[in-house]
Amino acid sequence: MLDHAAYTEATRRSYFHQDPAFQALMRQTLGPAWHAWAAERLESVGALASTRWADLAVVANEQPPRLRTHDRWGDRIDRVEVHPAYEQLAKEAYEAGVVWPRFNPVLDGRQAPWSVVFGLGYLMAQAEQGFFCPVCLTAGTAWLLERFGDDRLKAEYLTRVASPNYDELYEGAMFLTERTGGSDVGAATTEARFENGQWTLWGDKWFASNGGRARAMMVLARPQGAPAGTRGLGLFLVPRERPDGSPNAIRIHRLKDKLGTRSMPSTELSFEGALAYPVGDVAKGFSHMAEMLNLSRIYNAVASVANMRRMINEALAFAGARTAFGARVEDYPMVRAQLIERTVEQEADLRLVFEAIRLLDRVESGEHAPRDPLLTRVLTPMVKYHTAREAVDTASWAAEAFGGIGYIEEWAPPRFLRDAQVLPIWEGTTNILLMDVLRGFAKENTGPALLGELGARLAAELPAGLAPWRTALATQVADLERHLLALANLSEADRTVHIKSWCDRAVRLYQAVLLLESAARDWEAGSGRGALVLGAFMRRHLTPTTWREALGGTLVEAYGAIVEHAPVTPTEAVAQLREALAAMPQ
Ligand SMILES: Cc1cc2nc3c(=O)[nH]c(=O)nc-3n(C[C@H](O)[C@H](O)[C@H](O)COP(=O)(O)OP(=O)(O)OC[C@H]3O[C@@H](n4cnc5c(N)ncnc54)[C@H](O)[C@@H]3O)c2cc1C
Repeated sequence: MLDHAAYTEATRRSYFHQDPAFQALMRQTLGPAWHAWAAERLESVGALASTRWADLAVVANEQPPRLRTHDRWGDRIDRVEVHPAYEQLAKEAYEAGVVWPRFNPVLDGRQAPWSVVFGLGYLMAQAEQGFFCPVCLTAGTAWLLERFGDDRLKAEYLTRVASPNYDELYEGAMFLTERTGGSDVGAATTEARFENGQWTLWGDKWFASNGGRARAMMVLARPQGAPAGTRGLGLFLVPRERPDGSPNAIRIHRLKDKLGTRSMPSTELSFEGALAYPVGDVAKGFSHMAEMLNLSRIYNAVASVANMRRMINEALAFAGARTAFGARVEDYPMVRAQLIERTVEQEADLRLVFEAIRLLDRVESGEHAPRDPLLTRVLTPMVKYHTAREAVDTASWAAEAFGGIGYIEEWAPPRFLRDAQVLPIWEGTTNILLMDVLRGFAKENTGPALLGELGARLAAELPAGLAPWRTALATQVADLERHLLALANLSEADRTVHIKSWCDRAVRLYQAVLLLESAARDWEAGSGRGALVLGAFMRRHLTPTTWREALGGTLVEAYGAIVEHAPVTPTEAVAQLREALAAMPQ
């Protein structure tokens, strides 16, 4: 028996209200002024995402985009048409503020921090993952223009790319990948020619998401005579239309027939002498684009935690509404253990992602600690690869949690599973991101910066009841430091093999430190929930055990507190954490 009304009622509750951990995170990350500015918007986007946008997303995915190469007169138009449901969702989401507040003065003459737009984006992406790609591309294009564009590009394009009004908005795009390589961007062959006082581009792009729709595309191309490799690449803005309104010389050959993100077009296209404007120093195109890549990696991580949260919401709603063998599925201890596991993992990932965003905001504000840019540098690739993999695992688990209908397209898990699978691939595969971490170690000495940050944060004042967890964590950080030295002594090839286990541990320790801080805040407010989340997480990840073993004792009784946010005092939490703490290496 599946109680249809109960399932529907549970899934359509605002994504903001279903997620008290995110509400607390927003209060803590934004600070009072920005939180006051964002509060109503978070409420409104959360409610729209779980109802209207979730419905529009279903239609937009069932009716994927179409390529229209010619008009009825036989002239080339190279346009991509999306379903009106996608268009409506795009209009409402952009206007609700998933991009523009970051680029326009909205509060006392200040632009919103990334934490605001990413907070709104996290809620939106729980409704629709495919469209979050154009959101990322549009924000990234605006960011590149803000940082590197000249006054003319800013006046003509940044104002449009960052417009709060959908009818005036120019969506962005980012084209690097060619048939010669996506990871190996330096192999790109698209050429930039400077003739008669203007630049034109010539060549093919093999994966061009939002092609045909984007009106301001950020493209890497090699100026004639420039050296081979990434160093020779320039960054160009290619407008969809020329200044006189005629179409630019861009041919769209095909739409990719994709496993997921089907609502959004990914194209194969050619520039056949397309008018282009250089963005920043044409000799530094790759390093400019690399900054956008880092931003899009954070977008990827936000999409990942959003996908996970939606899958947890769905699985919870299903387990609460489904009866099997005479009992609610949610009441079986095995199911509770799985829901605790997924809730704790998602919460740890969510905190880590918003830590990376907080650091990005601090670095951009100019008021940051010397260590912050190094932390952003090392955390971004780690956060991206870790959360992407977790998203695939969580969506796959959710499909199983639904039983047979979890395999049926009318329900959410199949689409979110298909959408999740792109997250470890685009914006850099895991191997490519790990090599990026190694580059950061070698060039900027980012490893010690990360360990130094963990050490400094562990030294902060804590409620006495949480002190044993700190001791266990400090031991592990010291061990990670020894491993960093051992890594440095390996051959270059061996380092590429061992870097993943170092990064995996570093991710877990950083997450544990964030959970410890959150447990301390909870504790001081009279709640033991944070301590329970921390204890479950550390039992699983800081001792050699599986989730099933970790939750096999008293911890499964923490289901109400961890998953449903039922009140629990620090004293009650300490009692439930006895076994977990005893297992902790001190
Ligand atoms: C749906 C979708 C949309 C996309 N949209 C865009 C877009 O809009 N713009 C854009 O520019 N790109 C886009 N891409 C392309 C995407 O970014 C690339 O596919 C991705 O970066 C991987 O590059 P690749 O396909 O060349 O794979 P490859 O580089 O060929 O990688 C193949 C495998 O080899 C491994 N590998 C490669 N080099 C190394 C190495 N040195 N050491 C160890 N392992 C290695 C990789 O980890 C991977 O597992 C999109 C891709 C998809 C799937």
